[in-house]
Amino acid sequence: MILSQKTAAPIQTTQQTHEATQFAESVVSAKQAFMIAPVLVPLAVPKLYDYAVPPHIQLIEGAFVRVPLGTKKITGIVWQAPRLWQKGDMKQSQFKPIEMVHACPPLTAQTRNFIERMANYIMAPHIMGPPGSVLRLFMRVPAAFNPPPPLYGWRDNGTRPARMTQARQKVYAALAIASKDKDRGDSKDRGKSKDKDKDSQHKDKNQAHALSTTDLAHAAGVSANVVKGLVKAGALEKVTLANRAPFRQPVPKDRPFTFSPEQQTAAHVLCEAVKTRSFQPYLLDGVTGSGKTEVYFEAIAETLAQGRKALVLLPEISLTAQFLTRFEARFNCPPALWHSGLSASARRRTWRAVAEGQVSVLAGARSALFLPWGDELGLIIVDEEHDSSFKQEEGVIYNARDMAVLRAQFAKATIILSSATPTLETIVNAQNKRYQRLALPKRAGTADLPRIKLIDMRQQHIDANRWLALPIIKAIEETLANKTQSLLFLNRRGYAPLTLCRACGYRYACPHCDAWLVAHHYKRALICHHCGTLQPLPTKCDSCGAEDKLAACGPGIERITEEVTQTFPKARLAVLSSDLITNTDSLRETLAAIVAGKIDIIIGTQIIAKGHHFPKLAFVGVVDADLGLGNGDLRAGERVFQLLSQVAGRAGREKISGHAMLQTYMPEHPVMQALADGAREAFIEREKEMRQTAGMPPFGRLAGIILSGPDLPPLNKFAQQLAAAVPPHNDIDVFGPAPAPIARLRANYRVRFLVKGKKTAPLQDFIKTWLDLVFVRVKRPSKIRITIDIDPYRFL
Ligand code: ADP
Ligand code: ZN
Repeated sequence: MILSQKTAAPIQTTQQTHEATQFAESVVSAKQAFMIAPVLVPLAVPKLYDYAVPPHIQLIEGAFVRVPLGTKKITGIVWQAPRLWQKGDMKQSQFKPIEMVHACPPLTAQTRNFIERMANYIMAPHIMGPPGSVLRLFMRVPAAFNPPPPLYGWRDNGTRPARMTQARQKVYAALAIASKDKDRGDSKDRGKSKDKDKDSQHKDKNQAHALSTTDLAHAAGVSANVVKGLVKAGALEKVTLANRAPFRQPVPKDRPFTFSPEQQTAAHVLCEAVKTRSFQPYLLDGVTGSGKTEVYFEAIAETLAQGRKALVLLPEISLTAQFLTRFEARFNCPPALWHSGLSASARRRTWRAVAEGQVSVLAGARSALFLPWGDELGLIIVDEEHDSSFKQEEGVIYNARDMAVLRAQFAKATIILSSATPTLETIVNAQNKRYQRLALPKRAGTADLPRIKLIDMRQQHIDANRWLALPIIKAIEETLANKTQSLLFLNRRGYAPLTLCRACGYRYACPHCDAWLVAHHYKRALICHHCGTLQPLPTKCDSCGAEDKLAACGPGIERITEEVTQTFPKARLAVLSSDLITNTDSLRETLAAIVAGKIDIIIGTQIIAKGHHFPKLAFVGVVDADLGLGNGDLRAGERVFQLLSQVAGRAGREKISGHAMLQTYMPEHPVMQALADGAREAFIEREKEMRQTAGMPPFGRLAGIILSGPDLPPLNKFAQQLAAAVPPHNDIDVFGPAPAPIARLRANYRVRFLVKGKKTAPLQDFIKTWLDLVFVRVKRPSKIRITIDIDPYRFL
């Protein structure tokens, strides 16, 4: 017996092909043959689960299968080749059967190997079981595991219901209009292609147009129920609609300008790399506006010529209309897209199209790396490789830039890390010849890099509750007079970072985090920037009840806007801050208005710093350039340097020349000096030396281990137990436990260990041994979470 009738669930599969039957006959012909498939489920579970393969099903590795798990059903992946049941396995009747095979291209061996390697690297296995938690990143769109259902529509075939209402009449009217529009469209098409088959023209003409329920209701301006009522009354005819158009294939066009010699060289080297079809890592290191994007477009064109696929990873906010327009100008159609703003149906269609190999170029945020790419990925580009948004810091913790390099290794692909301010890691990799560096030292066309001037705020006299120094105000005035644009940058959302009672000294803090609440005037609330806790703006002190004593301390972007409005009442402003932008469309509109010159002064946070190309922008002012320098973080200096170079780099990108001013209280700080002198190389050398002396990344390795839990005493006790079990190691030191820089987050206390090793030290193995040692002795406290952050980016 293979499966009893009782346990065998109905098999719904579209894979019952001829071969499947043959396979079943040849392999499972012996009477006692009983096949078992090891399945990985996308959950943090400790092992693979074995399932019975029902007869007459051909299962291959990587297939998407529906399986029972506990009381639930879940889709997992056949992780290893199905095998025959053997003596020593558990009883055949104890295996639960695979219930269904999704009609979905399997995850290729390349992808599965990548998942395993990634899980090992980021140590997902030790904390959460086998690579299930990484697999989950690939399985976020369950609706796409099955082919899209056929789309039905409704057509007017002349029948009318017994009861006619106004709403019902509207439905027929909408269908009549749709049919007329279609005829008109058809005859236009026909004009173009004269030799179209006459017969089919005739058929088209006689066929009234059909619309789906939603589209029909929308066109008629009635509710979907009206359409459904007519269907029920038998007064509309059901037809199958053609499925939506497949993804358009990019076709390279001519470039409207000639490349500079440096661009020419870089593009040539990259195209040759793509042709080798082997792992080829590059750093495309070019100042802001040097034409890096145009250069990597060449590599994309070569990838298409090779019949392979290209993936462009970008920080989500750089994925703007501008980028798409430029891509379209070069390739005739926009790339496929992947970002958090996609609708559920676009998400489903895109995931499916990638799985089926229909997408040749996709641009997306970091999670695009986890689409079900086949084996044809030939090029990965990480644009703005220095950007911190590539580091995922919650849940499964990884750096998408590093994982992209890993993926490119498995895919035998070329990878381009592109930036005007590459990270020290990448620069050192280039110096060590692990990556080849391609340099674009000059701006494209005739544009020059902006001059950067420091404003020593200790020398400035500014009224209380004012934040803009006189030189910046003067520069904006000049820019207004020249009819060009200014940008004011402050990397802080909201109105004021702290609210304080001047009567009793009370400060508004988040009840769940170790952080002050930030006043937001547009939203009329105090908001915690760590956990999102929100409470109404107080009118009197919560502690002493004093009225009119609450003071907003320090500036946020909203407060700067207030000051600019007072100082330049006639100027047209655009305020760009992630919390003020409710959807990507409104962001696109604002960016378009800026490009069109309908804005005089742009005021923005981080969101405005990257990638944008504003031809009329002549002046950039930075309100608090020191922000972030004092937080004791390993990368603080590097990050501030990158951010401010990028912000200043928005100015003067075309014919108008640009300049920038930075307000600082530390003009002698090396970061400020490097910015003012345009001395990137010197700054990098200095950072390098400091890190080398301290044995810090990229010259040593780091991992953060954060314990978090709702109660402090058990957390501290557990941390002590961990500390006592640290195994000795020549090349690795463990520091801690110490309160994490954010000592309390979302009502959880946080304690941190820092594991620091030599460059060659086996950090992951060490951590695994250590934790294993602990867990043989102590039970893991159920309320305590352990998070491992390999190569931490920020110290949180
Ligand atoms: P980056 O990616 O380095 O910031 P872009 O590729 O965005 O630079 O190029 C900046 C601007 O210069 C774009 O408008 C681009 O079309 C234009 N550009 C790039 N290369 C050239 C060139 N060789 N001649 C003229 N314009 C160019
Ligand atoms: Zn909070």
